[in-house]
Amino acid sequence: MSKPNKKVRHNAVVSTPQQPFQHDNIDIQFPQASDAVEGETPPQSKHSKRMEALKLKWASVTAELEHGMISMYGEKTGGCIMCTKEATHRCHDCSSSALYCDTCGINLHKHVKFHKPEVFIDGRYEVMGGRSPCLETEHNRSCPEKKQTHYVIVTDAAGRQHEQEVKTCEHEEVTVVMLEHGLWCASPSKPTVAFTLEHMYLVRSLVLNGKVSLNGIVDSLKNASRPLEDKFWMLF
Ligand SMILES: [Zn+2]
Ligand SMILES: [Zn+2]
Ligand SMILES: [Zn+2]
Repeated sequence: MSKPNKKVRHNAVVSTPQQPFQHDNIDIQFPQASDAVEGETPPQSKHSKRMEALKLKWASVTAELEHGMISMYGEKTGGCIMCTKEATHRCHDCSSSALYCDTCGINLHKHVKFHKPEVFIDGRYEVMGGRSPCLETEHNRSCPEKKQTHYVIVTDAAGRQHEQEVKTCEHEEVTVVMLEHGLWCASPSKPTVAFTLEHMYLVRSLVLNGKVSLNGIVDSLKNASRPLEDKFWMLF
């Protein structure tokens, strides 16, 4: 027969190897080393029971989740969300229900950066090629001075990389033009790599709050840049 767990009330945060996670005024029951009796299964904590119940619940809905995933990636029928003509394009970066006709799908994505619209061809969706629109400013569109063209590899918040064209005149810094479009260059001069601000905020937060190493972030990005339908299975 095992001894009952000792109940401890903590009014101050302390950290010891035996009691690493404690908070003010929270009752936590700690199994004691002396409680274990040889040959007897130790009592399951409330947390373990809760985790076990959640695991069983997830397992019970796996088949439905797979069905939902297939529905999201399968053929979608319906009208263009812009003009109601028959839809031939979709874009999961716009929304999971964003269907477009040829004209609207192409025209809209001339003005949107880093989306990957798909077109339905021969019974399957294929990612449309093409670059994001060239980045310019009001000033350099009308400036008579000679323009310079730069090509920068941009990593977005989803970990995908895109080649981005940027135009500047001699009165502008490419880093400033990029920032006006929400992109942070990796170098202050002649940048060849940049990140979206959403990506920078996420990395900063992971490093400062999550204490994640930069190597760890780079490894995660390799997974993040995989197609969504592959990443889905990583959740299980
Ligand atoms: Zn349309
Ligand atoms: Zn889109
Ligand atoms: Zn100028």
